Amino acid sequence: MTQQGHPKGLYLLFVTEMAERFSYYGMRAVFTLYMVAALFTMDAASEIYGYYTGLVYLTPLLGGYVADRYWGNRRSIVVGGLLMAVGQLLLFLSASVVQPAISEAEGVIDPAVDNQLAIIFMMSGLFFLILGNGFFKPNISTMVGSLYAPDDKRKDSAFTIFYMGINVGATLGPLACGIFEGNYLNPTYFRWAFLCAAIAMLVSTLVFWLLKNKYLRDYQGQPVGTGPTHHEQVQKHPLTRKEKQHIAVIFIIAAFVIFFWAAYEQAGVSLTYFADQQTDRHIFGWEMPTSYFQSFPAIFVVLLAPVMNLVWETLGRFGHEPSSVLKQAFGLAFLSLGYLLIAYGVKDIDPAAKVSMFWLTGLYFLHTLGELSLSPIGLSLVSRLSPKHLASLMMGIWFMSTAVSNMLAGQLATLYPDGSSKSLFGLVEITSLHDFFMVFVVMSGIAAIALACISPVLNRMMKE
Ligand code: GLU
Repeated sequence: MTQQGHPKGLYLLFVTEMAERFSYYGMRAVFTLYMVAALFTMDAASEIYGYYTGLVYLTPLLGGYVADRYWGNRRSIVVGGLLMAVGQLLLFLSASVVQPAISEAEGVIDPAVDNQLAIIFMMSGLFFLILGNGFFKPNISTMVGSLYAPDDKRKDSAFTIFYMGINVGATLGPLACGIFEGNYLNPTYFRWAFLCAAIAMLVSTLVFWLLKNKYLRDYQGQPVGTGPTHHEQVQKHPLTRKEKQHIAVIFIIAAFVIFFWAAYEQAGVSLTYFADQQTDRHIFGWEMPTSYFQSFPAIFVVLLAPVMNLVWETLGRFGHEPSSVLKQAFGLAFLSLGYLLIAYGVKDIDPAAKVSMFWLTGLYFLHTLGELSLSPIGLSLVSRLSPKHLASLMMGIWFMSTAVSNMLAGQLATLYPDGSSKSLFGLVEITSLHDFFMVFVVMSGIAAIALACISPVLNRMMKE
């Protein structure tokens, strides 16, 4: 390890998280399509998707707590990884027993088809995935921070490298699993997508398990994540005033971040419906599978992360690098701009028309600039501000904002226009795609402005 380079442990965490995210995003890319093909209506599928992606990020609270207090990071990651592999295998079983419910000739649901068993396997699979992610996700992120001394300047760049690992996985997962995109005539074809996700999860856990003892050491060469951090620490140090203020900052920023992911996570639901039904996906005569669109943000992250790092570095050299809090506000602003672009693109279009891929691609490009401004910087911020003995729990709290967002995302996606009358809290009528996208323009725009306004106060709280 050199001062410029990074410890080898970072690359082990990179690979472990890359394979896990491959599995998570690969499954997610086909999951709503699978449900809609054979099991549920579009609105019901959106809701289930919202609950799933929400709960998956709620259990990190439990996983963070258990790790800090009892198990340590390493054991939690192995347990979480195995639980998720079982979850993906149950989805594989679900898609293996599912039967087509709609006949091509009649185009109507056949009431004689009973898919109860497929639904039971699917729901149990989701349960295992939700629980497993709780043990895996906060702990792997905490371990990135614990490879470094608390004040090590390399932390931001370490989290950006780690975030690239997340997104290499998130790029390849949908591309690989998307190959096995079935349809309502052949829903069992989806089973290979879920099997592919299960194999990736097993690889992730195995690599981590085999190499953890060799590479996961802190800056003094001591093994990290082997046991609880909580007990002896808390009896020595009750929380100081400064630590309490830092925790408050994490909570406040996490609350704003809810607005980011609620709009961003439309990727797996309403934006997938939009890609499926209203986007012309032909490139030189080849029709791109709908699920491939979900790789776009991840590809953009991998391409743009070094560019963003360079932008921050250059601004820093001139003394103009925005604070971490302001970067979170920029993230929200980029998100708002992405929706503004697509709202313009779909204005006054015929509901049966298909628009160019440019609009969705442009939206994902802007969203990625926002994501890079917000997400890795947020992880690094949490790692810097958390008291050591609560590090994993605080990561769990950070991910809790993603949980709330995802639930909200599923609810907001039910506003997607389908010809029936829809309204936002009974206040605003949503009659067109333009109205639908404008909801997100306004929501994230207001959050961006509010966070930018209070950023000086938060910066002071972080320093004091
Ligand atoms: N794309 C990020 C990941 O998959 C999102 C994490 C978050 O919601 O904070 O890890």
